[in-house]
Amino acid sequence: MDYDVIIIGAGPGGIFAAYELIKERPSCKVAVFEAGHALEKRKCPIDGVHVKSCVNCSRCSIMCGFGGAGAFSDGKYNITNDFGGTLYEHIGKKQALDLMKYVDSINMAYGGEGTRLYSTAGTQFKKLCLQNKLNLLDASVRHLGTNINYVVLGNLYAHLKDKVDFYFDSPVKTIQKTEKGYRIIWETGSCECAKCIVSVGRSGSKWMEQVCREMDIPTKSNRVDIGVRVELPAVIFSHLTDELYESKIVYRTEKFEDKVRTFCMNPNGIVVNENTNGIITVNGHSYEGSDKKTENTNFALLVAKHFSEPFKDSNGYGESIARLSNMLGGGVIVQRFGDLIRGRRSTVKRVEEGLVRPTLQATPGDLSLVLPKRILDGIIEMIYALDKVAPGTANDDTLLYGVEVKFYNMEVAIDEHLESRYKGLYIIGDGSGVTHSLSHASASGVYVARHILSENRSD
Ligand SMILES: Cc1cc2nc3c(=O)[nH]c(=O)nc-3n(C[C@H](O)[C@H](O)[C@H](O)COP(=O)(O)OP(=O)(O)OC[C@H]3O[C@@H](n4cnc5c(N)ncnc54)[C@H](O)[C@@H]3O)c2cc1C
Repeated sequence: MDYDVIIIGAGPGGIFAAYELIKERPSCKVAVFEAGHALEKRKCPIDGVHVKSCVNCSRCSIMCGFGGAGAFSDGKYNITNDFGGTLYEHIGKKQALDLMKYVDSINMAYGGEGTRLYSTAGTQFKKLCLQNKLNLLDASVRHLGTNINYVVLGNLYAHLKDKVDFYFDSPVKTIQKTEKGYRIIWETGSCECAKCIVSVGRSGSKWMEQVCREMDIPTKSNRVDIGVRVELPAVIFSHLTDELYESKIVYRTEKFEDKVRTFCMNPNGIVVNENTNGIITVNGHSYEGSDKKTENTNFALLVAKHFSEPFKDSNGYGESIARLSNMLGGGVIVQRFGDLIRGRRSTVKRVEEGLVRPTLQATPGDLSLVLPKRILDGIIEMIYALDKVAPGTANDDTLLYGVEVKFYNMEVAIDEHLESRYKGLYIIGDGSGVTHSLSHASASGVYVARHILSENRSD
């Protein structure tokens, strides 16, 4: 055996698996294979001056490399079972929460100390939301912010680099089952390990599907979330964001009884483009440092679309809608709420005359030509509902960017140890379809590392 454990993917799932293995058993021989670059080499070419939009790099530095999709994120670690994944269905609610808290303590020890932990416990907004048919979900949120998140990742790498073999720019092509473990094959070589942890996230979803097909591991897929990113003056939401930072609010529409939810709230943040498989969608960030704060807050409003048999390609459905916005707008479309409800497109002039300064250069247009009616109706209803807890949300000048799509990996069949039907082959993090967040993905890494160590102990 070349290694006791090989980890595929250096996102939060992979990093925390490596961290725990080495912490508990320093003699453990661990290798991490990562398709993207080392942290310091990750750089998105968009600089806002020479390169203004996505140039379709062969490997996206926002999604790939040490730190995974989370490296340049806002670093919001939500400590909750209410959203962010269904890890608790496999390992139990208490254990899932304990692991998320443990991950938080490591983040604090590696540079996150001093960052704020927000909580919904005891907040008056729960009642206010309920009075307006809105459900504020329970959570504690550690907000590292983009800058500190990067520092923590740098410190974790410095801690691990001499104890673990990192192979960057080395996408794994094939996993083969051998008599005693697994052979991992990448472009320029192969090596063997006793146990293998696959943690390839969203960017590895197509490869994960291929692995499951080749190894006959069952999967299921039936969900995609579609919606818009809302941008408005930060003061409109400041009473909520000052106390909770991120509020996850769910609304059940009167018309169709669909659930619409807020997602990824960025107080004083910026709206950004995201490139998923060459399709431009929208997302948001906010920075911890006051010098980079804007006067706007942004958040997504998403409607979950579940499909039943025979349709299986939920991500394909989401991609098609995003493609439509790219076709009409050459990328992301922006529309004033007032224009949307008046049934007219936004123009450069109308956006310029508005009170909200857009933080993303997007094409003014008409989202009603892109989003299915049912989804758009749900979003409009929710904006009016939010207006009751944050008056001003439904102002004419509120900006809507579309489309935002949250793709879900297909769910891989794994047991209570996050182990596939092959003994010693674990599938964790967002790549498993079980987690959709930094905290859940990280917790799944720690969990599997501990399971591997406990198994070896009893050998
Ligand atoms: C812009 C943005 C902002 C976000 N903000 C937040 C936030 O504030 N809070 C939150 O909870 N979540 C956030 N998320 C989601 C969060 O980043 C993910 O849930 C989390 O990173 C998942 O961790 P992971 O380890 O499972 O996968 P990933 O972080 O996706 O890491 C997987 C890694 O595997 C590598 N890989 C893929 N295929 C292969 C292969 N074949 N061989 C080798 N390596 C491979 C990839 O390059 C990648 O580095 C955000 C995501 C984005 C894109």
